[in-house]
Amino acid sequence: MGIADRTAPDRSPACSSGWCDRLRAAYSALHAAVDLDQLAANARALLRTLPPDVELLAVLKANAYGHGLVPTARAALAGGARWLGVARIEEGLVLRQAGITAPVVVLGPPNAGRLREAIAADITLAVGSLADLLAVRRAASALGRRARVHLEVDTGMHRFGADPAEAIALARALRSDPALEFEGIYTHFATADAPDCRTLRLQLARFRAVRERLVAEGLHPPVVHQANSAATLRGAIGDPDLPGRRVVRAGIAFYGLTPDPAMSLPAGVRPALQLRARLTRCFTVDAGEGISYGHTYVTDRPTRCGLVPVGYADGLPRALSNRGWFLVHGIRCPIRGRVCMDQTIISLEDVPQAQLGDPVIVLGDPASGAMTAWEAAELSGTIAYEILTSLAARIPRVYVRGGEPVALADSFGLLERDVAVTE
Ligand SMILES: *Cc1c(COP(=O)(O)O)cnc(C)c1O
Repeated sequence: MGIADRTAPDRSPACSSGWCDRLRAAYSALHAAVDLDQLAANARALLRTLPPDVELLAVLKANAYGHGLVPTARAALAGGARWLGVARIEEGLVLRQAGITAPVVVLGPPNAGRLREAIAADITLAVGSLADLLAVRRAASALGRRARVHLEVDTGMHRFGADPAEAIALARALRSDPALEFEGIYTHFATADAPDCRTLRLQLARFRAVRERLVAEGLHPPVVHQANSAATLRGAIGDPDLPGRRVVRAGIAFYGLTPDPAMSLPAGVRPALQLRARLTRCFTVDAGEGISYGHTYVTDRPTRCGLVPVGYADGLPRALSNRGWFLVHGIRCPIRGRVCMDQTIISLEDVPQAQLGDPVIVLGDPASGAMTAWEAAELSGTIAYEILTSLAARIPRVYVRGGEPVALADSFGLLERDVAVTE
């Protein structure tokens, strides 16, 4: 809290002007404040709920659920994550270019045109079919390097992976191929966030049966993972009686949100991202006047309004028109009229002290009274995952550690204060 209230330290001798100018610019407009300590704390809190031998893979796909790939990866590792998961090889390459050496797994079908780059960067690839296996082998052979491979078993999600019978055959082929290192086996649950556990139990049984068969044939790989956030929170983290280092793949819970609004999180797990802006205009609209496009809201009395520089092009759903609220001085200010592309109008009736330039929390922590990603999602007919991953590239991300801004990712790229100071 209080991050956006602080003005950038423009007179500090330790402050290079590039850093201060960009930080001041970010703070004065719409920005996402990402608390790196909270991300690390979330990883630690999730690990505390697990048996000590269980390892954490932080899922960083889609720009780390909107939080920003590289700083979030470092925070996850600082919090005890041993593995990083991405959806695209390109995301893994960015992590490697940033000097991150932790194991990176591409969770799903890889871009066929980048297999060699992935193998050269020691990025682990998922295989779900013989065609996948052959493509990875071809790339590995061309490079003269072994490729690390995790076999995905489709136990019921029916998205990617080999069905159980095919998985046994693939495991044999993987194990006997000198170009491939059969490092892991995993599956993905379709309904781990639903109250009805029947499908989850069926998938667990199918995965166990495949693994037992691999054990019987002496083919079981050294690493195994099955749980997303929901399954992790439910304790469906894998059978300790079978071989394999157990890993859980946490996405949404690592970011401090529940996989489903009906679930709860371990103590200490909180949202790490706040979307903040400043009032760019305060004005009064006469009674009987319409507000914003289409005049879908008409005032019944003279109404003091505030203009906030956030719109659907920033990822704020247009479906929040006349629904939802932003927080000003700790007070919920309802959205009035349609959300525009770049701007939204709120009522300031309950915050008479609000002035031009005052901070506005668009999305934040429920403890502050701010609208959460889940509340925004439910009011607009989607899920918190989509709200986070829709946050636009044009929104600068300000990274905070120990209450201080330490890095900033804006349209000019990632700037870290330590780097700037020594320039
Ligand atoms: C996205 C994803 C996850 C993370 O899911 P959360 O619900 O965010 O924890 C885990 N595993 C796979 C294969 C995924 O695609």
